[in-house]
Amino acid sequence: MTTSLDAFWMPFTPNRQFKEAPRIVNTANGIRYRTEHGREILDGTSGLWCVGAGHRHPRITEAMKRQLDQLDYASSFQVGHPGAFKLAERIGDLAPTRMDRVFLVNSGSEAVDTALKVALAHARATGQGQKNLFIGRERGFHGVGFGGISVGGMTNNRRAFGGGMLRTDHLRSTWDPQTQAFVRGQPLTGGAEMANELERLIELHDASNIAGVIVEPFAGSTGVLVPPVGYLERLREICNRHGLLLIFDEVITGFGRVGEVFACQSLDVVPDMIVFAKTITNGAAPLGGVIVQREIHDSIMEGPRHLSELMHGYTCSGHPLSCAASLAMLDVLAEEQLIERVRFLSPRFESLVHELANLPGVVSVRNFGLAAGIELLGDTEGVGLRGAKAQAAAFDRGILTRAPGDTLILAPPFISSAEDLAEMVDRLRLAIEDVFQKSGK
Ligand code: PLP
Repeated sequence: MTTSLDAFWMPFTPNRQFKEAPRIVNTANGIRYRTEHGREILDGTSGLWCVGAGHRHPRITEAMKRQLDQLDYASSFQVGHPGAFKLAERIGDLAPTRMDRVFLVNSGSEAVDTALKVALAHARATGQGQKNLFIGRERGFHGVGFGGISVGGMTNNRRAFGGGMLRTDHLRSTWDPQTQAFVRGQPLTGGAEMANELERLIELHDASNIAGVIVEPFAGSTGVLVPPVGYLERLREICNRHGLLLIFDEVITGFGRVGEVFACQSLDVVPDMIVFAKTITNGAAPLGGVIVQREIHDSIMEGPRHLSELMHGYTCSGHPLSCAASLAMLDVLAEEQLIERVRFLSPRFESLVHELANLPGVVSVRNFGLAAGIELLGDTEGVGLRGAKAQAAAFDRGILTRAPGDTLILAPPFISSAEDLAEMVDRLRLAIEDVFQKSGK
């Protein structure tokens, strides 16, 4: 690559280190990238949890090309175009009953902030404007907007930017290294007891002040932390009892990752809002959104008819190109039965990743659907050092992974074969061995 690397300030990247040893991919097809030097890299993380149908899916590419030839841009402010209406209707059809009002944005972070605003607007519209405190969860990730940081529970974000702007409190993380280190799928015990902590927070703040509770069905970005059976069910029960909205952030889990369209369906707990992004476009264009329960939406449809009911939206909300990509992705998911495929592959994937448990240096393996976190023994010299080394070693071994802290993430594309999954796990095994053999631990 002859272009200088200086100008592009890379997001969520140690820029100085990266630019000394860049990892540049030039092309991609299916589950594989190719580097500028022609090396093949397996996409072990579906891009950033988004390329479920594989890179450059012809159906999605064609739909986007057709859209560009027809209508490149139309605002969704006071005009409309068919794609946004079609997409919202189709997403509503896939969601649980009566969750069929859809606000479109461009990213998961925007979608989270949108859901929080909808909760505040609903509180006001129902004469409870004092409800402006949110309950999130430690080690939750809800994107990088100030709303998302506030309800999120990532220490690094708080260290960098303070506690955020919203009034919040947080449930404890559901992660318990003592009992869950090598559990397959959902831990079986302790879920309801963990969720009872919400009662304690309600007792402290009083339900009359709380707008809602926001959690990921499982914490993805902080290392695949799967809540025990009964946890989400109890959160729902408590929210119902105290009249609190329950928001599921399904930015990672939505559109197939766990073998149903939404994790709330596979876990059988219906929230009041679902936040989504990522897989909906197969990563081919930016789009996120919030699915809102109809009664919540309707409560906000008030005030003078010539004014916007919700003072919110983005220049590219419902962008025609993103809608075209999303509609094509929904077709692909259905016609290629990719969600059924995830369901079929998940047990095999679970067995494969748990084989890594025997490697020296692996302290935990967790999985759910086509997502796994393999946690490595941290280096005494700093959290994340081992993870970063293993991530670099994995790239050298021909697999793209991510490493929040010292946990390696695997989130393969849904189109992977069982052999592809085995190959991914094998390459990851070699990378882990590289790191621990070199460090001599
Ligand atoms: N919410 C969750 C659960 C996420 O995992 C992410 C990103 O990984 C986001 C929100 C933010 O999404 P985006 O990066 O599209 O803003």
